Amino acid sequence: MTFLTIPTPFLTIKDISKRYGPVLALDGIDLDIAAGSRTAIVGPSGSGKTTLLRVVAGFEQPDTGQVWLEGRMLADGPAIVPAHRRGIGIVSQDGALFPHLTVADNIGFGMERGTPDRDKLINGLVDMVELDRIMLDRRPHQLSGGQQQRVALARALARKPRLMLLDEPFSALDTGLRENMRKAVSRVLQNAGITAILVTHDQAEALSFADQVAVLRDGRLIQAGTPQTLYLNPVDRETASFLGDAILMPADLGDGFADCVLGRIETDATNRRGKADIMLRPEQLRLTAIGGNGDVRQACSAKVTDVEFGGAVCTVTLALYGVPLVVKCSSVALPAVGSTVQVDVLGKAHVFAKAPN
Ligand code: ADP
Ligand code: MG
Repeated sequence: MTFLTIPTPFLTIKDISKRYGPVLALDGIDLDIAAGSRTAIVGPSGSGKTTLLRVVAGFEQPDTGQVWLEGRMLADGPAIVPAHRRGIGIVSQDGALFPHLTVADNIGFGMERGTPDRDKLINGLVDMVELDRIMLDRRPHQLSGGQQQRVALARALARKPRLMLLDEPFSALDTGLRENMRKAVSRVLQNAGITAILVTHDQAEALSFADQVAVLRDGRLIQAGTPQTLYLNPVDRETASFLGDAILMPADLGDGFADCVLGRIETDATNRRGKADIMLRPEQLRLTAIGGNGDVRQACSAKVTDVEFGGAVCTVTLALYGVPLVVKCSSVALPAVGSTVQVDVLGKAHVFAKAPN
């Protein structure tokens, strides 16, 4: 006889609210996280990202709601399992290393006293976070920002957490280093099979790191889904613009199409009619030069008003019936300012679920 088992999520955040005096930092957050997955929590500053992580970690008591990890209840309103009994690792923005301890002792800090093979374990962790073992005797102030964050990660890994929480761990690093660190951390967590939640205000970081992205605004969960879903089908204009450049246009909807300044284009909504705002991502527009004194009466041609060279991705501004339109182009065959181009739309325009206010 076989029993049907319903897979329960690894981590369940259920209707969590948290108030600090007059500020409602978290307002009824519901979020499920699958085992082994990577979730990015994004949102503007003050939207409740850190508070949510601290509730999951056990540093903060929610006013209401529950947190479940692998079927075990960690919080039920203010009744909580203490942080050190949760098996959850956390790396904060500044790494929070102990300044008076060496790298080795920082990493070994969480290990039980007299752990057999302590040094070997520390060496293994240093290798895992791709730090040179030469660093082991140094103190935090003798390390770069990136190296400090690797030590912080190694220290969190030393406790063998099943869940790792990362609160803007790369925000103090410069762009190139940040990308390297993000990839290294992804690799380490994936190899160790650790489920991860990354808080970031960097949308590109969120989209490339995560299997699931959750958008917070004013303490509320606005939308959660795959990076593709959020990028291409955001619930509202703010989310659209938060996750990348967005071209927002008024349109008249028909069955699966919209009439707008770009002419008639396909949409992802077949059951809507009437006026609506639609969205395209700038990379959905393709420009082709119209030779000589180009046919400007063509349905979808536009004058180039500005070109910003940006290496691999250049930004071209067009005027379409007086409406400025910003398009991302490759540096190959970049149109000239003042020339006329034909504009083609790739893929479908997105119609927001909610009608404009
Ligand atoms: P984020 O990490 O998204 O920037 P936070 O979770 O830190 O946001 O903060 C959410 C809101 O709660 C903000 O308005 C913040 O000022 C407030 N807040 C956070 N922690 C405290 C605290 N310990 N005491 C009072 N207010 C707080
Ligand atoms: Mg924060």
